Amino acid sequence: MDGLDLRSDAVTAALAEARAAYVDRNPISAATHGRAEAVMPGGNTRSVLFYEPFPLVMARGEGCYLWDADGHRYLDLLGEFTAGLFGHSNSVIRAAIDKALDSGLSFGAHNLMEPELARLICDRFAAIEQIRFTNSGTEANLMALAAAKAFTGRSRILVFKGGYHGGVLTFAAGQSPANVPHHVILGDYNDAEGARRLIAENAADLAAVLVEPMQGAGGCIRGEPAFLTALQEAARSVGALFILDEVMTSRSSAGGLQALLGLTPDLTTLGKYLGGGMSIGAFGGRAEVMALYDPRRPGSMPHAGTFNNNVLTMSAGIAGLTEVFTPEAADALRERGDRFRDRLNALCQSEGAAMQFTGCGSIMAVHFMAAPIRSVADTAGADVRLRDLFFFDMVAAGLYFARRGFMALMLPIGEPELDQALEAVRGFLATRRALLAT
Ligand code: PMP
Repeated sequence: MDGLDLRSDAVTAALAEARAAYVDRNPISAATHGRAEAVMPGGNTRSVLFYEPFPLVMARGEGCYLWDADGHRYLDLLGEFTAGLFGHSNSVIRAAIDKALDSGLSFGAHNLMEPELARLICDRFAAIEQIRFTNSGTEANLMALAAAKAFTGRSRILVFKGGYHGGVLTFAAGQSPANVPHHVILGDYNDAEGARRLIAENAADLAAVLVEPMQGAGGCIRGEPAFLTALQEAARSVGALFILDEVMTSRSSAGGLQALLGLTPDLTTLGKYLGGGMSIGAFGGRAEVMALYDPRRPGSMPHAGTFNNNVLTMSAGIAGLTEVFTPEAADALRERGDRFRDRLNALCQSEGAAMQFTGCGSIMAVHFMAAPIRSVADTAGADVRLRDLFFFDMVAAGLYFARRGFMALMLPIGEPELDQALEAVRGFLATRRALLAT
């Protein structure tokens, strides 16, 4: 047996032990999952939350902490995949929801709050002249793509491998069987030359280029400024729309990541935290494109959705943007995230570990490899068992985040909590040193 085989066996053994400890510690989560299995396939109603042997069931949240059904407390480093920006019990958000409840639910009508939330977002995002609300980021992308096709009279969409724009627009591993049947061209992320070529080849029928400025679900891989600028220019040069999916990254500054990168997308898609933690999505941009959805226009495009303007989302969203997530708070959170990631990476390097944290501001992901990561293809060689081991070890140490290694900081997390997280990672590096060496 050579050294590599020995190390692989050691990873298998460590993982089996960590997994067994997890099962022992979490009997109520296991039993709850058992009940769910009887009535939901795999006991699951949201694929990303499932993992073997059974997922943790959370019972309660407060501030930046979560308690699972078995009573363990966790520092919540997942932040509901960026939607949980305000934490679990922000008093301003709660008051806004209470205020909405005091005036009643389900009007089936326009309400007083929707123009206010729309105004707040249009004022923050320079490229958003007009906006419409949806229930989710997925719907926002679906409606933006429909607008692009109708506006250009074309059918093809350029997206990127590793991209995620919703459960029916996922390109993590090529096409998904659940995807909507668009005529999709798949490019390589951060390959500006390749994208320019694909745009030129499909010029006559290209409706849109749809891209995340940082691939979130794909592993928090940042789009290089030159790549994103090239996409914007090349799309425009052939008359296609440049759609920036900022569902996750819009928290990077008051005006999103686009403001920091100097991008001016034709359409932007949003979601996650913008509804103060209530379900939301939104798409907006150039007024002449958005005018397609103006119901006064003959032949306008329909855009339905019972809950598009629901009062809980509108009220919590307005309070969140005006009273909590101010432009200053957005900058401070981004800087806190950047510093935290720098400290994590410095730690990994000083320990000589093949481990790194990629991302942007408050959003990040762990990768068990040392080489630079510019696309999902670059992550193919990583040992996913190490990611699982990291997850089990960190959960045992009181940190919660996504099994795939994704983290998003929420506003109530302060420096003491980040120090606590750093110490837990330091402990992992010390305990698992032999498995992580480059
Ligand atoms: N786009 C991006 C970049 C996302 O990260 C997500 C959700 N993770 C979506 C779209 C879909 O948003 P939702 O889950 O609200 O449908």
